[in-house]
Amino acid sequence: MSKRAEQRELRLLPAVDEVLREGRVAELLAGYPRGMVIEAIRASLAGERRLILGGAPSNKDLEQQDFLDLIVTKTLAAVEQSASAKLRPVINATGVILHTNLGRALLSERARQAVGKIASSYSNLELELDTGRRGSRYAPLESLLTSLTGAEAALVVNNNAAAVLLVLISLAQGREVIVSRGQLVEIGGSFRIPEVMAQSGARLVEVGATNRTYPDDYQKVINENTALLLHVHTSNYQIIGFTRETTIGELVDLGRAFSLPVMSDLGSGFLVDLSRFGLPREPLVQEIIAAGADIVTFSGDKLLGGPQAGIVVGRKHYIEKMKKHPLLRAIRVDKMTVAALEATLQEYLDQDQALQALPVLQMLTAPISLLEEKAVDLAGRLRRLVGDKAEVVVEQGVSAVGGGAFPTAELPAMMVTIAPGQISVGDLQAALRQGEPAVMSRVQDGRLILDVRTVREHELTELAEAVGKVI
Ligand SMILES: *Cc1c(COP(=O)(O)O)cnc(C)c1O
Repeated sequence: MSKRAEQRELRLLPAVDEVLREGRVAELLAGYPRGMVIEAIRASLAGERRLILGGAPSNKDLEQQDFLDLIVTKTLAAVEQSASAKLRPVINATGVILHTNLGRALLSERARQAVGKIASSYSNLELELDTGRRGSRYAPLESLLTSLTGAEAALVVNNNAAAVLLVLISLAQGREVIVSRGQLVEIGGSFRIPEVMAQSGARLVEVGATNRTYPDDYQKVINENTALLLHVHTSNYQIIGFTRETTIGELVDLGRAFSLPVMSDLGSGFLVDLSRFGLPREPLVQEIIAAGADIVTFSGDKLLGGPQAGIVVGRKHYIEKMKKHPLLRAIRVDKMTVAALEATLQEYLDQDQALQALPVLQMLTAPISLLEEKAVDLAGRLRRLVGDKAEVVVEQGVSAVGGGAFPTAELPAMMVTIAPGQISVGDLQAALRQGEPAVMSRVQDGRLILDVRTVREHELTELAEAVGKVI
């Protein structure tokens, strides 16, 4: 655009006041804060100025009124955008069941309803209705957790990282904790066992080699300053080949011999055995307790399929210490977490019920025939919408569990692959991510992949339409 044309267009842009006086914008002021509306006008004007100065093609035919209309339209969209929730639902078509960036586990219907009810009414969160006395927010969870795991006592905090920290601080501060070198894991974010240990004020004593650690390695460093033997589940990686880890059973024998507590940080706690669905055999929480571990910690929103929470189960006198520790108040769970976790744990009172009701377990154990049906359904909808603008194929593939669980497990998956004709695959993926609803997908071999394992039945129509809109 020539300098003159640029100057002409810049002059035609309306002033903020002028936009504010426009009917549709003036109406916004009834529902939105004035500051937000003005901010939206300024942003719309600035955007338009940038377009003009950035060499956008000249709009010779546009008059003052047209520019005003344009800015009004942009302002309305900007206000709607800034007033809409920034945290919003995403359709997860990656096939990764536990995706920390996407909020990990989806709650069961029972948990969802429990949260809704408790969030919007007063509750007996810390009140014993029988006696009228002050109660414990942990009580309903504790009785469920002890009956499900066989542990003497239980406690729930905000997340598993906090649970590990609480255990270390209350049982080992200023003293030594022995861990195998093969278990000094980093979970992601900044959760690394050595760093959590440093935060807790406990001193980490590493033993063994990365690939092999024997009971003897622990025994050699035990001294009067030793507070705890810690076993960490290497949730998100596996060392294979020439390896040997000391088992929980061996640690328990050592612990007994030296009167030391044994802790197992399981990461993702399992309450049901999923090996009959072709998944690797993982130790269940109740088995680790039965093997004699004194404290077990695990997450609420990994494979358990509940809300974000850190669960500690184990011997009563250790749990009592944690209950009395001042840190507990800082990491205590909210009533919505209590409601969701109670409902989730109730599902586990009947294991078959849990498999059917908890979305995480449903997705993990979905038979391939069911996934194929879903993929064929989605592909059909897509083909009707995109016609010959993309090649849509149903294919077999693999999906990952994610969330630091079953690191080597590959689940057979059914996927819909899309090769678009008029847009690049990268652009398609980005547009889906930025769309409404937002869709997360994978790209592989130059094609977009929609893995239906993590797509809910009721999302299929929206998902197809989202793709149809972009292609
Ligand atoms: C995931 C994990 C944690 C942290 O749990 P969050 O619930 O994410 O806080 C700690 N330890 C292990 C072994 C884990 O896998």
